[in-house]
Amino acid sequence: AMRNLPYFCRGEVVKGFGRGSKELGIPTANFSEQVVESFPSDIPTGIYYGWACVGNGDVHKMVLSIGWNPFYKNIKKSVETHIIHTFKEDFYGEILSIVITGYIRPEKNFDSLDALISAIQEDIEEAKRQLDLPEHLKLKEDNFFHLPEGKIVNNH
Ligand code: ADP
Ligand code: MG
Repeated sequence: AMRNLPYFCRGEVVKGFGRGSKELGIPTANFSEQVVESFPSDIPTGIYYGWACVGNGDVHKMVLSIGWNPFYKNIKKSVETHIIHTFKEDFYGEILSIVITGYIRPEKNFDSLDALISAIQEDIEEAKRQLDLPEHLKLKEDNFFHLPEGKIVNNH
């Protein structure tokens, strides 16, 4: 297990750089630059899994990528959460709360879009399996996700 995990984080969902994740069926909610900069620099880039909640909503499984942000010529990181749930509407501007509980793999380049999509689908299946294990499942009920109304604080 990684020394930094579980890692708790909360912040506003902002517009990403429109790489068309939604068109691939895998929308990713992006955190603001400010939230990304608050991440410990020793959390390696790659694909992770954990739990996520939008506003005061239900807690869902998620997969998360920590990667290099092409918009900033790859000198800044981006943190993007795909929540394993079908939402009726977009939630830009809302507060996303996440706990990262485990690591799947490093970042990779893919030869084709199909290869990328199937890798992400495998990541999602792996996340679903891992999150059912007691050590990860218990974090779904963490008090972090049940803050009293109006008491939203960045990075808990
Ligand atoms: P952007 O480049 O703006 O991040 P995306 O194509 O990655 O655009 O779509 C992300 C947006 O889709 C999120 O900010 C959120 O408002 C919405 N969304 C809807 N369903 C989900 C989901 N299951 N997981 C993450 N984001 C979702
Ligand atoms: Mg996105």
